[in-house]
Amino acid sequence: MQKIPTKYIFVTGGVASSLGKGIIAASLGKLLMARGFNVTIQKLDPYINIDPGTMNPYEHGECYVTSDGAETDLDLGHYERFLGNSTSQANNVTTGSIYQTVINKERKGDYLGKTVQIIPHITDEIKRRIKLLGDTNKFDFVITEIGGTVGDIESLPYIEAVRQLKWELEKSTLFIHLTLVPFLSAAGELKTKPTQHSVKTLLESGIQPDILVCRTEHKLNEHIKRKIALFCNVEKEAVIESLDAETIYEVPLLMQKENLDKVVLRKLKIKDETEVNLDKWKDFLFKLNNPKKSITIALVGKYIKLKDSYKSIVESFIHAGTEKNCEVKIKWISAEDLIEGKTINDQLANIHGLLVAPGFGDRGIEGKIQAIKYVRENDIPFLGICLGMQCAVIEFARNVLDMKDANSTEMNKKTDFPVIDIMHNQKEITNKGGTMRLGSYSCQLTKDSNAFKAYNTNSINERHRHRYEFNNSYLNKFEEGGMLATGNNKENNLVEIIEISSHKWFVGVQFHPEYSSTVLKPSPLFSSFIDACINNNK
Ligand code: GLN
Repeated sequence: MQKIPTKYIFVTGGVASSLGKGIIAASLGKLLMARGFNVTIQKLDPYINIDPGTMNPYEHGECYVTSDGAETDLDLGHYERFLGNSTSQANNVTTGSIYQTVINKERKGDYLGKTVQIIPHITDEIKRRIKLLGDTNKFDFVITEIGGTVGDIESLPYIEAVRQLKWELEKSTLFIHLTLVPFLSAAGELKTKPTQHSVKTLLESGIQPDILVCRTEHKLNEHIKRKIALFCNVEKEAVIESLDAETIYEVPLLMQKENLDKVVLRKLKIKDETEVNLDKWKDFLFKLNNPKKSITIALVGKYIKLKDSYKSIVESFIHAGTEKNCEVKIKWISAEDLIEGKTINDQLANIHGLLVAPGFGDRGIEGKIQAIKYVRENDIPFLGICLGMQCAVIEFARNVLDMKDANSTEMNKKTDFPVIDIMHNQKEITNKGGTMRLGSYSCQLTKDSNAFKAYNTNSINERHRHRYEFNNSYLNKFEEGGMLATGNNKENNLVEIIEISSHKWFVGVQFHPEYSSTVLKPSPLFSSFIDACINNNK
C-alpha cells in the first residue's frame, strides 16, 4: 500500500444534534480501513469540563475509558468498536482542556507579555491537538468530529481553527457536513431548506463543505440531490443519503452503497482500486438480524432512564450475543426501585442472567445487593462490573459470612466490616477529576476458574475506573466461605476478579470488560456470560 501524507477529514453537524456524526465518522473510518489505510478518529467537544469523567451520566451518557486511561466521550467507544483499534488521550479534546493548556502557559509566562486571545492562542492550541495525531506518522487519515451543531457559540473557535487548517494544509483536508433533510407529512415532501441554511452558516465561517451527508427518513431522489447540490455548491455525487437504519452497524454498508469512501478518495486525489471486502462485517450483521435463540438479562443500574449511560455494556451484549446467534433482551431495572417498588422475586422472575452495573455513591446500592442475593441463592448467572463486583462482595460478606453491616467505605466509613476499602494510593487524593485508577492494567487468572475459561489465557489486560478495592485482610475468610479471588493484579496485590465456585456462573470483575468489546472481537467475558445464560435457559 502506498504511504500517503496524512489527510485530515473534518466532520461537522448542522440543523439538529444527535444526527449521528460519530457513527458516520466511524463508518467512513471502517471503509477506509477496509482499503488498507491506517485511520484514527478524534472528537472535539465544546464544553468547559476538562473531560466527561466528572459528569453525571444523565448529562453526557457513559464516560468511556481508553487503555491509556483517558476518561472520554462515548463516541470514542463507537470508534473503537467499528475500527477495532485503540484510541488514546489525544483522541478526545474538550474546550476545558484547551483553555487549561493555554492558561497554564500564560501563567508560566510563555506568551511573553502578549494579550492572550481566542485567536490565535486558543485556535493555535486546537490546531496543535488536531495535528498531534497526524504528527505521529501512524495514520493516513485523521478524522476529526466536531461536537455540537454549526452556529453554536461554543463551537466557533473549533470551526475557526479548522478553517485555518484548511487554509494551511489545503489539499490535505476535506470537510464533511452532516445535515437533516426532514419529511413534512402534511406537504408529503422532503425539505432541503434546513440543509441550505446550515451550509450557509458554515459558509459564514469561511468553510465550504466538500461532501454533505444528509440524514433522512425517506430516500433522496435525483431531483432532491441535484437541488441540494446546486444550492449548497457541492457536486451531486457528493450529496450522500444517510437513511435511518435499523442498527448503527448497518451504516458502514449504507455509506459504502452511497460511495462515501470513493468520493472522499477522489476529492483528496488518492488513487485506490482496492475491492473493499466487508464480508466479516456482513456476516456479523446477518447473524445480528437472524438470531436463533433469545435470552433476557436484567441490567440493574442507577441511571437506566438514559440508555446511553450504559452504552458499552449494551453494545457488548450485541457483539457477544451475535457471536452466539442469540438475541439478548435487556430488562432494565432501576436499582432504587428494587427496594421501594415490586418485590425482587417479581422483578427478577424469568431472567436468564443478571448484570449489575458500575456506579458511584450509595444511592441504589441496597437494591443491587438484594438482586445479587437473589441470583446467588437461585443459581442464576451473574456478572458484576466494578461497583457490581463490589456489591457482590458486600452481599457475600453480609449473608454468607455473617458480617452484618459489611459495606464499602465509599458508602459507610464506619462499617465494622470494610470489605471494600479505598485503595492505599487514593487516600490522599482530594481532586475528583482524572484521579481514579484509570486505564489498562494486567490481571493474572487462576486456572480452571470461569474467568480463565472465558479468556483462555493466564494473563489479560483490561481497563479500570475506580478508587475502591477488595480489602485483602478479609481474603482468607472469603476463600474459606467459597468466594474465590480468581484474578489478581500482581504489581499492586489487588483482587481483580471474584467468583463463587459452587455457583453455575458467578463472576465479579473490578475492571470494565465492556470497553474493549468490538464488533469483530467480542469481550470473552461477555461471550462466556451469555453462554451461561443460554444454558440457564435450557
Ligand atoms: N465507586 C466504585 C469505586 O470507585 C466503583 C466504580 C465503578 O463502578 N466504576 O471503586
